[in-house]
Amino acid sequence: MRETKTSRELFARALQSLPGGVNSPVRAFGSVGGTPLFFERGEGAYLVDVDGNRYVDHVLSWGALILGHADAGAMDEIAEALRRGTSFGAPCRDEIELAERIRTAMPSIELLRMVNSGTEAVMSALRVARAHTGRSKIIKFQGCYHGHADLMLVRAGSGVATLGLPDSPGVPPATVADTLVARYNDPESVSSLLEANPDQVATVIVEPVAGNMGFIAPEDGFLSSLRDLTTQHGALLLFDEVMTGFRVGPGGAQGLYGVTPDLTTIGKVIGGGLPVGAFGGRRDIMERVAPLGPVYQAGTLSGNPLAMRAGLATLRRLDATGIWSDLENRTRAVTTVLSEAAQHEGVPIQVASAGAMFGFFLEEEPILDWDGAKRVDRERFARFFHAMLDQGVYLAPSPFEAGFVSMAHGPQELDVVAAAAAVAMGAIRT
Ligand code: PLP
Repeated sequence: MRETKTSRELFARALQSLPGGVNSPVRAFGSVGGTPLFFERGEGAYLVDVDGNRYVDHVLSWGALILGHADAGAMDEIAEALRRGTSFGAPCRDEIELAERIRTAMPSIELLRMVNSGTEAVMSALRVARAHTGRSKIIKFQGCYHGHADLMLVRAGSGVATLGLPDSPGVPPATVADTLVARYNDPESVSSLLEANPDQVATVIVEPVAGNMGFIAPEDGFLSSLRDLTTQHGALLLFDEVMTGFRVGPGGAQGLYGVTPDLTTIGKVIGGGLPVGAFGGRRDIMERVAPLGPVYQAGTLSGNPLAMRAGLATLRRLDATGIWSDLENRTRAVTTVLSEAAQHEGVPIQVASAGAMFGFFLEEEPILDWDGAKRVDRERFARFFHAMLDQGVYLAPSPFEAGFVSMAHGPQELDVVAAAAAVAMGAIRT
């Protein structure tokens, strides 16, 4: 066993000041048990904890760090921006280039607004969708997570699923009365809701590749059905690409699957590890946002020069020739070693990936939606998670999360994962 005494001491101290000792619930290891690790620093593909243990990191700040930790080039750029100040509360040059790069990568985004988190991006995009359509209802999918805004805390995935909370206390029923819930990968469930609520649905919001009930890819035709159904019913299609944007491919899931949404939310990678989100889409819709239009949305730190530079430093690096096929191959290699180790030990496994995002379920049958995901053997996952951790691989501490690969993950790290998986699969063999 690795020595984690300092983490345990810090956790005991953190519990005195922070709810559950953490600043975001999944970090508390609630669904896998044990004490969360406290980290001292990140170095490329590795996280180093406060006791000096090194881990190959496949969480990467929940997908944000596609360059890996503390990339030297990005750190130099951020340091240069830092010397000129952290926030102006006024326009700066870098916010334009970051916006231009996002528009070029995702042509469905004609105008966009920078915010400070994915939650904020979703909350704001939903407001605009409602304003544009003059309708109140929203369709979301069971098991999809769109941040912690009140109106999205209905059958959400990620931490909400991890904690087994169907909803959250503190969300007034009236706030979610207009949030309808459909089944992922089931266009019929969307069609019935649209028909039962004629001219009332403002938008259908979806994670185009689900990453918050484990990794679940859209089945063939699912996203294009959503496009057709929303168009037929005068509703907007909102792709929440906070996780998938600049992660499953250069043009996000919309580029990968060739389906064009009306509105998109992004975050994570576009902030290079600093707090950034953005929402954008069709010009006629986004023209409703203040000061062009009457839909109010604002932010003290939105578009601040430090976060914009961190995002730019990241996106510029993703221009390199061959980078996406390289990331895709490295990611597939991770799923392959997990799969091989499982097969070798007779452990059931389902693996999948898109771009630099992957997932696995230690189950016999493929999982297509939340009904399938919620039946996973959580105890088996917890044992696997701890065995991997002990072998130096940091996976998300919940079966309802995705895994991520960065440009810093190379053959050496793959060897660590392969060796760890061989031991961990052996440990959970039944
Ligand atoms: N939307 C999706 C698809 C996400 O995965 C997340 C976070 O994981 C969010 C929204 C919320 O983003 P944030 O945690 O930056 O508020």
